[in-house]
Amino acid sequence: EAVIETRALGKVYSPGTEAEVIALQAVDLRIGRGEFVAIMGPSGSGKSTLMNLIGCLDTPSSGQYLCDGVDVATLDAEERAALRLEKIGFVFQGFNLLPRMNALENVAMPMGYANVPREERLQRAREALASVGLAERAGHRPSELSGGQQQRVAIARALINRPPILLADEPTGALDTKTGEEILALFKRLQAEDHTVVLITHDPDVAAHCDRVFAMRDGELHEQEVAA
Ligand code: ADP
Ligand code: ADP
Repeated sequence: EAVIETRALGKVYSPGTEAEVIALQAVDLRIGRGEFVAIMGPSGSGKSTLMNLIGCLDTPSSGQYLCDGVDVATLDAEERAALRLEKIGFVFQGFNLLPRMNALENVAMPMGYANVPREERLQRAREALASVGLAERAGHRPSELSGGQQQRVAIARALINRPPILLADEPTGALDTKTGEEILALFKRLQAEDHTVVLITHDPDVAAHCDRVFAMRDGELHEQEVAA
């Protein structure tokens, strides 16, 4: 079954004004559990807009989005935020870690709102850090970690609520090639554990690691042929 399903999904910014932008046009997308998907395309083509919709950060102007079977349009803002916490983990190019918190505290962060007692929260954060190979770095602040280690902390943070979907915006963009390959290997392992991974990338070598590749152009999404 599809974990991410969109039907004629569209997004218009500032509709009916001089500043109107049609950012997304009638996107039909079905992504199943355990798929590893890349979205490519030039700047301004609509990639962030689509990711914001898939991530339940924004609402569409037209069409439908089913997030793990839930029709997001039926939810109010609070319910949408709760769905996001449960279903989606986010990973960014710049890691987005809080500099004054150590690795463990950064990983435990997204549960702050989720009504999980502090001890359980920290225990889960320890497990998440161990699962990305960073158990012994729990007490380090981001500035004391390498770029690849910081990204692994960010991935552990994305995993803390055990979401089925991981969304990553240029996750290897700030890393050297070898470190980027390690991060991609980690995503592959998460895929094998049944996570659905969707990443935005400008790098064809990164997209080559994915099962399916989509190209965004002028708000339209087209699936590419992938060499076997
Ligand atoms: P990228 O292409 O790397 O995703 P952008 O500069 O396109 O970065 O977008 C960064 C953020 O700014 C996104 O969250 C996007 O939604 C927002 N954004 C982009 N273009 C505009 C705009 N014209 N007006 C307001 N916000 C915008
Ligand atoms: P990409 O991520 O591929 O760079 P975006 O989704 O950020 O593309 O942008 C798609 C189009 O929508 C661009 O023309 C951009 O300027 C516009 N846009 C993005 N976010 C906003 C926003 N918040 N308000 C107005 N226009 C936006």
